[in-house]
Amino acid sequence: MAFCPEDILSCYSASYAEARRTFLRAAEAQDAAVTSHLNPCGQGVSGEDLCMDIATVGSADADSALIVSSATHGIEGYAGSALQTGLLRDDIAKSLPDNSACHLVHAVNPFGFSHCRRVNEDNVDVNRNFVGFSHPLADSDDFLRFCAFAARERKEGRAADDTEVTARYLAAEGEQRYQRALTLGQYSNPTAIHFGGREPTWSNRIWRGFLDHALPGRALTIHMDIHTGLGRFGQETLIYTRDPGARGYELACQCYGGDELLIPGGALTPDVSGPIPSSFARFEDDTVVIGVAPEFGTVPLNQMLTTLVEENTLWHSECRGESERKASVERMMHCFCPDDAGWRIGVWRRFRRRIDQTIKLLNNL
Ligand SMILES: [Zn+2]
Repeated sequence: MAFCPEDILSCYSASYAEARRTFLRAAEAQDAAVTSHLNPCGQGVSGEDLCMDIATVGSADADSALIVSSATHGIEGYAGSALQTGLLRDDIAKSLPDNSACHLVHAVNPFGFSHCRRVNEDNVDVNRNFVGFSHPLADSDDFLRFCAFAARERKEGRAADDTEVTARYLAAEGEQRYQRALTLGQYSNPTAIHFGGREPTWSNRIWRGFLDHALPGRALTIHMDIHTGLGRFGQETLIYTRDPGARGYELACQCYGGDELLIPGGALTPDVSGPIPSSFARFEDDTVVIGVAPEFGTVPLNQMLTTLVEENTLWHSECRGESERKASVERMMHCFCPDDAGWRIGVWRRFRRRIDQTIKLLNNL
C-alpha cells in the first residue's frame, strides 16, 4: 500500500527503545543491511541497550550516497527517527537510482534520545564536539561575557542558579546576545549547556569510523542531519552545513534552490563550534560533499533556551524528584517533538520534498 503523509504518525514512538524497535523492523522489512554499535556507557532509561544503528539500502559500492542522521541532539531523535522510519516504509530503496546508496544513521546520541536530553552521557553537545582536542580550546567572547555577568549576579545575590542567571542575562542583553552566549559552544564548564567536551565522545568516534568506511570511493556524498527546535512552528529551515566555497555548494543550490539554503552566521543560526558535518572535511579532496541540516521549528527561541537551561539545572541537582523530572521531560518534548499531528505531518511533507529533490539530483548525475 502507498505511504500517505498521515502514515507518518504511526512512525512516532514514545521512547527511544520503541523508536529503535520500530526503525529496525522497518529496516528489516526493506532488507536493509544493518550495523549496530553499542554505547558502553550503560543502559537507557528503561534498561535498554543504547545503540547507534546504521541501515543501508542500495548498492554498498555505489558512486553516490545519501546519509540521513538523527538524534545528534538526543531528544530531537523522536522526530528524526520517525522521518527515517517513514523513508523506509515509503520504500526509499525503490526510488534510489542505480549506483547510489542511502545510509540511515539512527540515534547518533542514543543516551540523550533515551533520557530526553539534548546532550550525551557526559553532558556533551555532540554537535559541538567535532573539534581538535590536541590544544586547549578557548571559549567565545560571548560566553566569557556571559560568565562574567553570571559571576557578578551570583556574588551580589541577584541570582541563585543558572535558570535565574540566564533569565536576567536575556533581559539585560537581548535575545541575539543571549543566543550566542548559550549556543556557540563552550569547553570550560562541563555542567553547563552546550558544553563541547574535552575529548572526542563515543558518538564522535563511531560516526567518524562510519565515515571512514562509507565515504572512500564515492564521487558524491550528501549528508542530511535532522534537527528540531529552531524556527517557527512546523516551518523548515535548510541550513547549509559545509563550506559554501567548496565544490558541493553549487550542486546544493541546483538541488534545493540557492535562496532556500541558510548559511550559518546570521541571527537564526550562529556559526557554532565543532558541528558534526565538519567531520566530512578530510574527505573533500576526493569526494564532493553536500551537507544540509533540515531544522524544523517548534517553540519561540527564548522558550527553547530557557527550557534547556532549566532541564540542565534540574539534571545536575541532587534533589530532583520524580514529578519534577517528568514535568521537565514534558517541557523538553514540547520544545523538540510537539505532540501535534499537524506538526508531524507537515514536517514529513517538508522533509519528503527534500528527499525527492535529492533523488532527482542523484538521477541527473
Ligand atoms: Zn539540533
